[in-house]
Amino acid sequence: MDGFYVKLVEGVCLGSSLVFSGFCYYHYKKNQTTLDKLDDAPHLPINGSLKDILKATAGACLQYAVIEGAVQPVDEPLTSHFKKETAGVLQKFMLREHRLVWNSLTRTWMDSERVLHQRVSAVPFVLVGPDETSVRVLCPLQASGVHMEVTHEKFHQVIYGLGDIVGQYLSGEKLKGQLETEEMLKAGAALTGVGEVVLDTDGSLNLRPPSDGSEYFLSLVDFDTLRGELNSTAFWWKVLAIASALAGTAVLLWVGRRYHHQLRVRREQEQERRDFERLLVEAQRIGGPDAPNDRDEECVENACVICLSQPRNCVLLNCGHVCCCYNCYQALPQRQCPICRQDISRVLPIYNV
Ligand SMILES: [Zn+2]
Ligand SMILES: [Zn+2]
Repeated sequence: MDGFYVKLVEGVCLGSSLVFSGFCYYHYKKNQTTLDKLDDAPHLPINGSLKDILKATAGACLQYAVIEGAVQPVDEPLTSHFKKETAGVLQKFMLREHRLVWNSLTRTWMDSERVLHQRVSAVPFVLVGPDETSVRVLCPLQASGVHMEVTHEKFHQVIYGLGDIVGQYLSGEKLKGQLETEEMLKAGAALTGVGEVVLDTDGSLNLRPPSDGSEYFLSLVDFDTLRGELNSTAFWWKVLAIASALAGTAVLLWVGRRYHHQLRVRREQEQERRDFERLLVEAQRIGGPDAPNDRDEECVENACVICLSQPRNCVLLNCGHVCCCYNCYQALPQRQCPICRQDISRVLPIYNV
């Protein structure tokens, strides 16, 4: 692969598209595995028969199952800080600061967010079926899926004087304000849980994160919607993986095309040199010993305009200029006459008789 090289920018494009494609493919595979497991998971009703099903199962445990029921706190529920009538079992309070930061590269103000304070509270809760059978939900904070709803949201805007505004333009940072949010999993909400369902020795039913590392879900949407959301996420990871792999292939094709062009130019130059040498030998044979090599004394006055050392030994066609030696002609960056800039279609040796 003599002369074959990859430019830095091509290398960076190729490398980053392959890495990004691998990253997307990894996420696509992960989502697809979760989807396959969800499709295989049995849907269990929360009623009196659930205990019987688990008793008949090895280890009184189902590795991955789907249950749906209403949220009910075991003891005292949590109360919203902002709406006293709202009770729940999970509560997340967040205070985020929003700033505008001047980006000198894009020459725009960019929004930046920083969490100032976060507090998560939880109380034990169960999922209750229509006949009051309940399944205790363990480790709810480890679960994926949207299972909290916003119960309070307020933006505290900062009011500035003229002096502050000038200061902000000088420092390149503007404080917009603080966003205060509270999210809760409300008591009574219908919840879909996907995880390990186990019957404890004390006869209680539990839902917990799967011990084989499968994804644990708690979601306010029903199973089909949850599956649909995962399916569309997997689809977009796949699209991104294919698109970036195609981008990588395009870069490879581009490099290959350039290499092929280099090879062709080199082959053409080689062929031309052989033709030139053949013509030169023929000329020497016809012209005798005087032509065309034995012209040392002519060299100075008839020197090549480029190297100023070799004799001018070729004629450029179609313009007909005799201005350079064959070596300099081959080294020209473009096949254009150095005197008149006309395209060179052919080159022939010259000799004196
Ligand atoms: Zn020359
Ligand atoms: Zn010319």
